[in-house]
Amino acid sequence: MPAQTYLFPCLKDNYGVLLHDPDSGATASIDAPEATPVEAALAKTGWRLTDILVTHHHHDHTGGIVALKQHHKCRVVAPRNEAQRIADVDEKVGEGDMVRIGALQGRVIDTPGHTAGHISYFFPADKLAFVGDTLFSIGCGRVIEGNAEMMWQSLVKLRNLPNDTKFYCGHEYTAANIRFAKTIEADNRPLAARAEEVTRLVAAGKPTIPATIGAEKAENPFLRADVPEVAEAVGLAGSPAWKVFAEIRERKNRF
Ligand SMILES: [Zn+2]
Repeated sequence: MPAQTYLFPCLKDNYGVLLHDPDSGATASIDAPEATPVEAALAKTGWRLTDILVTHHHHDHTGGIVALKQHHKCRVVAPRNEAQRIADVDEKVGEGDMVRIGALQGRVIDTPGHTAGHISYFFPADKLAFVGDTLFSIGCGRVIEGNAEMMWQSLVKLRNLPNDTKFYCGHEYTAANIRFAKTIEADNRPLAARAEEVTRLVAAGKPTIPATIGAEKAENPFLRADVPEVAEAVGLAGSPAWKVFAEIRERKNRF
């Protein structure tokens, strides 16, 4: 049976998401921003927590691990390259490693840049990706521990996933991201259509994620740094894509 997901808000603007295998009953929490809303989501769904899949060490993604592990005795899977900064890790993983949640099989993708050891999880059979703070809908994470070239390569890896992949990110930033994206590509028609959709969703109090990789390719300026019109729009025609990406990221930081 296909995987099931359950998305819920945490903290100020974080998302928590549960990934559930209906055959085995196994359930993973993707990151653990705080324990209480994860517990509430488990109570609401009736699912039993078996695993926590951590994307990176930031506290707003890991603050609930200790309490959840104590209560559920779940397995904690975390990025090998920054596991020492995360509590209660049972299994350290990196690029190409497979992670099983019951019968669901996920592949680990190294996506450094936001943090030096950030990873994403891709479940090919269900075309689901959990990308933490690397890719946001119409945006991307701040480059904090890595550099722009590294972050661009990470985004390209996510961009290479199948177009109909649904991705879950760590934050609800889409509306603000769209306001910025329009300053880079004012005439981008798919972006204008997405802006209308997001306005409707926000007005209805609904989340704007998951989004799909295929749509982001057309709408997200951070995934479009190698499109000649985008390079030209930021005055960098002919420059390497990562430099165009760096300029867009810099502008967003100041936006
Ligand atoms: Zn973060």
